[in-house]
This record gives sequence, C-alpha cells and structure tokens, in this order.
Amino acid sequence: MLEAKRILVTGGGSGIGASVAAVCAEAGARVAVLDIDPAKAEAVAATLAGAGHAGLACDVSVARSVEKAFSRVTEAFGGIDGVVNCAGIWRPASDGPITRVSDETWDRIIAVNLTGTFYVCRAAVGAMEPNGSGSIVTIASVVAVTGWDKLNAYSASKGGVLALSRALAIECGPKNIRVNCICPGVIETPMTEKTLAHSKPTVLPIGRLGRPEDIARTAAFLCSDWSSFTTASTVMVDGGFSAA
Ligand code: NAP
Repeated sequence: MLEAKRILVTGGGSGIGASVAAVCAEAGARVAVLDIDPAKAEAVAATLAGAGHAGLACDVSVARSVEKAFSRVTEAFGGIDGVVNCAGIWRPASDGPITRVSDETWDRIIAVNLTGTFYVCRAAVGAMEPNGSGSIVTIASVVAVTGWDKLNAYSASKGGVLALSRALAIECGPKNIRVNCICPGVIETPMTEKTLAHSKPTVLPIGRLGRPEDIARTAAFLCSDWSSFTTASTVMVDGGFSAA
C-alpha cells in the first residue's frame, strides 16, 4: 500500500508513533522516525521491516529543530510524501481544576501539542510542494470534539490541532497536499498506562480500549493513495466512545 512512499513520523519513539512507523514500514514505506529522544527514535528505526529507515532527534516545540530534521530527511530520502504528527504530551498531574493549572503547564502543553504541530505542518508543506503531492496526518483526540472534565490545557491544544488541520486542508487542496486529523479515543500506550491502571473509561461501545495499531493503520491508509479523495476529514478512531 505504501511502496515508494517516504514517510516521516514525529514522536515515533513510543506508543502510537512507534506503531505508525512499524505499520508504514510493513506496508512498504521508507520511514524517518523522529523523537525528542534520539536513542528512542534510532531504536525504533532499527526494528522496522525493510531497509533505508532513519531515526533522528527532533523537538517539535523548537522551530529550528523541526527545520533541521526535515532538511536532513529530505536530503537523505530525496523528498517526503507523508508526515504523521504523533509527538504530544499529556501529564496526569498537570491538568485539573483550572484555578490550579499553572502558566508553565499551559504553555508547555500548547508548545508541544499545538505549536509543535504547526511547525511540523509548515515544514511538511515546504517539503511536499516541490513533489506536487503529499499527505499530512495530524493527531488530535476525542477531547477536541467532546468535553472532558478538568482537561483544560490538553483539550485546548487538541481543539487547536483539529482547527489547524481543517484550515490547512483547504489551503493545500490546490497543491494536491491532503491534510486529515485523527481523533483517537483512549489508547493503551506509555502516555496513558499509569492513569489506566487506576481507572478506565466506562463508555466503550466496542468493548475494549484502543491499541496503537488501531491508530497506526488509519494513519497508514491516510498516507496512502487509497485515501486520495479524503482531505479535511476528522477521523474518529475511538471504538464509538464519542458517539456514546
Ligand atoms: P507516547 O507513548 O508518550 O508517545 C509520544 C512520543 O512523543 C514520546 O516518545 C514522547 O517523548 C515524544 N515527545 C514528547 N514531546 C516531544 C517533543 N517536544 N518533540 C518530539 N517528540 C516528543 O504517547 P502516545 O499515547 O503514543 O501519543 C501519541 C499522540 O497521540 C499524542 O499527540 C497524544 O496526545 C495523542 N493521543 C493519545 C491518546 C492515548 O490514549 N494514548 C489519545 C488521544 C490522543 P517522552 O516520552 O519523552 O515524552
């Protein structure tokens, strides 16, 4: 499905991003795994099926770091066809009643989740324009469209990601660059494992929590030509959570 595609994944050292890298490589893509921790990125890249993959450092909250990583991948791969924005943070202790959310917490969550997605999308469009095509996948969350008690900063960051994705999809349609936003439900990853050990969502129509590969397969489809008429979409991958 992804033969000859060159895919860049941010936050690829863990969880959903690591699964996106694995699924895309299995589907035939050459994958650049980016993470704030280069050791994690390199370790994931080394496990991927096929050859020619790369693992490198990229802090999405720093514009220069994003530009440097994109230029290294473009040079090594000869271009970029797909970008999946998986880098993100959520700290169980950091949200809570709004009167207790610190400036520092708000600023960091917005810097990584929203500004980071902006930096990556900006670099992605710059890298894809010369190809005359491309696919960008952003990762928001069900909380971008539903409410979630005391999840103020994270919800705001993900609502911004969803709105940015729609605006960018309209702008980039004439460039043949598609932009789609996946809203995952609750997925078992290192990000959620401590919280899920204490409590699990009770409303899960499909009867189980999500797995990283549930998101990764959707991302791979959106990077592929099989989704060639899909852009500006909000793709709920949540086991029915948001509908219930
Ligand atoms: P994860 O396992 O923590 O993976 C995220 C990866 O991104 C980690 O390796 C993390 O490094 C890295 N990262 C953090 N800050 C970064 C930065 N500034 N630059 C580059 N990389 C950075 O989390 P996940 O559950 O796979 O989440 C992936 C995405 O899905 C996130 O955007 C998350 O908000 C979203 N999402 C997850 C769920 C869920 O239930 N898991 C639900 C909805 C949406 P560190 O480990 O050092 O932080």
